[in-house]
Amino acid sequence: MYHKSHGLNTVCTHAGELEDSQYKGAVSPLYMSTSYAFEDVEVKRYPRYFNTPNQVALAKKMAALEHGEEALIFGSGMAAVSTSLMAFLHKGDHVVFQNTLYGGTSNLVVEEFEKFGIEYSFTTGSSPEEFEAEIKDNTKVIYIETPSNPLLTITDVKAVAEIAKRHNLVSMIDNTFASPVNQNPIDFGIDVVIHSATKYMGGHSDILAGTVISSEKHIDTIFQLAKNFGGSLSDYTVWMLERSIKTMGLRVKAQNKNAQKLAKYLENHPDVARVYYPGLESHPDHELAKAQMKGFGGMLSFELRDGLDSSFFSKSLKLIKSSMSLAGVESTIVAPTLTSHALLTPEEREKQGIKNGLLRFSVGIEDKKDLIADIEQALKVVRTEVKELQDN
Ligand SMILES: *Cc1c(COP(=O)(O)O)cnc(C)c1O
Repeated sequence: MYHKSHGLNTVCTHAGELEDSQYKGAVSPLYMSTSYAFEDVEVKRYPRYFNTPNQVALAKKMAALEHGEEALIFGSGMAAVSTSLMAFLHKGDHVVFQNTLYGGTSNLVVEEFEKFGIEYSFTTGSSPEEFEAEIKDNTKVIYIETPSNPLLTITDVKAVAEIAKRHNLVSMIDNTFASPVNQNPIDFGIDVVIHSATKYMGGHSDILAGTVISSEKHIDTIFQLAKNFGGSLSDYTVWMLERSIKTMGLRVKAQNKNAQKLAKYLENHPDVARVYYPGLESHPDHELAKAQMKGFGGMLSFELRDGLDSSFFSKSLKLIKSSMSLAGVESTIVAPTLTSHALLTPEEREKQGIKNGLLRFSVGIEDKKDLIADIEQALKVVRTEVKELQDN
């Protein structure tokens, strides 16, 4: 049985698990029923009410992982993001967002909020002062994302949580990039923690899910809207996600370690112009990352030196796959300019510091030497192309 004093890997493996009293099986039984007897009038079990046995069990694991009181499991990260925001925002309210948001979240805000009469501001940067500067009389929510995509900037979680408390606002964080292994924002005073469980929680690029963790009171507020919006996750996937999280501590720590080594290797490489990784001393927010993160994560970005074609480089990789998504056990690479940030104008990207050749690298659990060998062979192909062009 799980206990509060247990360490991370024990929590990952056991927190919330269901007991198979019938056969004494090793893992939580899967209850696929969408219909339950109506004996107990207090509990009307129905998957859309987020209260089937497997949903409740996994929610307990999520709450334990993020040091919250309660949690809800959603059908996607965006279902968790949209439902959490809309639960606290009414017509005429205002919300402050960090300028560097996940693309789906910024689309939700820019494309949908106006028709609900919800006002919003984006910060100009991610310093605490820049968040406080955007607060108005009708502000209700402050929303951050750290480390951010794709430049891995770090927001001071504790400072923003304090600002929110001082102004009586609900503070929310998208904690997807860090995962609960590397960062627990509730410990720093954040009210609502959101994850796309599609990423590190699932970890094998085969599950779409989301979760929100908070106090009992806030989860009840979110639940009241969630049951009407209907974004709960089906029990089979809930069960798959419970299984995936058992290895999350092991996976993410291996990814942290690989990413740190690869960041160092890339930083010292003559063909690489710049590396963005909070674990590097050269990262402008390294000290802040050290203060609030337990590990620096598996995500890094880098730019090749002038003259080397980054998209030709990506295509020349053999082991590292090109992929939109991230956080799987397999390493993947993507050009944010062509994908997540393609809808921004070149000027907007420039303002955010996103160069055209920037590559975002989601580091997996493969052996470091094989990842480096793949990068070396791809760089060689790209260098040869440059030389051939020069010779002709
Ligand atoms: C992927 C992602 C989301 C959205 O999650 P989905 O599961 O794709 O809906 C939100 N925030 C971040 C930081 C993400 O990486």
